[in-house]
Amino acid sequence: MQTISILGATGSIGQSTLDVVNRHPDLYRVFGLTCHSQVELLIEQARLCQPHYLVVTDPNKLALASDLAKQAGLTAQVLDANSGLKLITQADDVSVVMAAIVGAAGLLPTLYAVQAGKKVLLANKESLVMSGELFMSEVNKHRATLLPIDSEHNAIFQCLPADYQYANPKQSGISKILLTGSGGPFLNEPIDTLINKSPDQACAHPNWQMGRKISVDSATMMNKGLEFIEACWLFGLQPENIEIVLHPQSVIHSMVQYKDGSVIAQLGNPDMRTPIAHALAYPERIDAGVAPLDFSQLTDFSFCKPDFNRYPNLRLAINAVSAGQYASTALNAANEVAVDAFLRGRIAFTQIADINRSVLEHTASEALNSIEDVINFDQRVRKQTQQHLTKVA
Ligand code: NAD
Ligand code: MG
Repeated sequence: MQTISILGATGSIGQSTLDVVNRHPDLYRVFGLTCHSQVELLIEQARLCQPHYLVVTDPNKLALASDLAKQAGLTAQVLDANSGLKLITQADDVSVVMAAIVGAAGLLPTLYAVQAGKKVLLANKESLVMSGELFMSEVNKHRATLLPIDSEHNAIFQCLPADYQYANPKQSGISKILLTGSGGPFLNEPIDTLINKSPDQACAHPNWQMGRKISVDSATMMNKGLEFIEACWLFGLQPENIEIVLHPQSVIHSMVQYKDGSVIAQLGNPDMRTPIAHALAYPERIDAGVAPLDFSQLTDFSFCKPDFNRYPNLRLAINAVSAGQYASTALNAANEVAVDAFLRGRIAFTQIADINRSVLEHTASEALNSIEDVINFDQRVRKQTQQHLTKVA
């Protein structure tokens, strides 16, 4: 029996995680759940899985959550971020933590789980992008087990040899990691129409149902850029080890190419319950509730290279890896602010990349030697991005 806490339980990944966990009451028990403000959904989830703790990170929603929990007759304690996040990620009883808060807000809670040496299922790619080497050294120092939930990284993990040596792909006979991406909803739209795309159009991903921030990132392909950086840290890769391949059907979730010409791919229907179930049960396999692939229906399988004119964010992210940690951290911060402004209707779709580029151009290189440095730097870049926004919007 494994006991799990889910950070960001009310989100798309959180809900899929609970779906898998609730299918296996003999294998998993829920210890704690968190949400920011969707407390009604959190209480509904708690009725089903009866956790010990509910953590509500939006202080304005805490009282409502306590009332609703009482009305529902729940035994769970309702806590705020300060008293709850460390408790539910570090308690002795907890063996697994799903890190599925969106954005930089996920960094500290994910690190709490890492620092307690837990099995950490990493959906929150932003935390790794922000703090790369510092994050990985905490994983090593505290002997945490880090398993990727991002479908591409989970696929790569499944396609690597069992004895893969971190930062040494050549040693394992690997010639390239092929990171696949769908290209998002605007893959075939004329580039000059992108400026007029609305938040709802950007969030209408053809293959995946996801939260709004990552959906916009998929439309700009900043998501693939963040994943490029994430892959570098997770597997110890250099930019030249990774090639991005567009595959609009999202059935191949990524591949590893070996020097003898073999390519090993992981395939499946685009449903996050597969990587979640894989990481939860690793190294065993459990039912995820996902329909098996029907090969008679897979008539149309295509691949192409990404066009950097269509996806300027992708180029920014790839360049950020070589520029150093400050550039990845700055890009992530600027992008979170710009995407939020786009979702609120303050800027046009194409201005997300313009703002990201302009913030990067105005940010000087600096050393980030601690998580505190990362958080302070992130905050500064956010302020700077707000100033750029006021000029643009
Ligand atoms: P979502 O928007 O659906 O859910 C986000 C969750 O984070 C919610 O539970 C919300 O309450 C919580 N949250 C939001 N702001 C918060 C704050 N300030 N403090 C604390 N909690 C906060 O997002 P999602 O699509 O589930 O994505 C979650 C993470 O997983 C992201 O980092 C995303 O990149 C990653 N991811 C998602 C998918 C997917 O298919 N959805 C795939 C791969 C990776
Ligand atoms: Mg992904």
